[in-house]
Amino acid sequence: MIVKEWCMYCGECAGVCPRNLIEVKETVLVFDDEQCKECEICVKCCPIDALEKN
Ligand code: SF4
Ligand code: SF4
Repeated sequence: MIVKEWCMYCGECAGVCPRNLIEVKETVLVFDDEQCKECEICVKCCPIDALEKN
């Protein structure tokens, strides 16, 4: 997942991932890309379009 620089680390995306693969660490978003099923729920939930599939 690509995180755009305007991400505000609100944690909304982390809360919706059905597999719990996103962790917010202050000003870093950590994704477990190996387990990601690319459902894009996180991409669609971000209110400011800060996520992009890579
Ligand atoms: S929902 Fe969007 S703004 Fe919030 S932490 Fe996730 S990517 Fe960043
Ligand atoms: S695409 Fe789906 S599985 Fe992958 S991190 Fe986002 S919500 Fe989780």
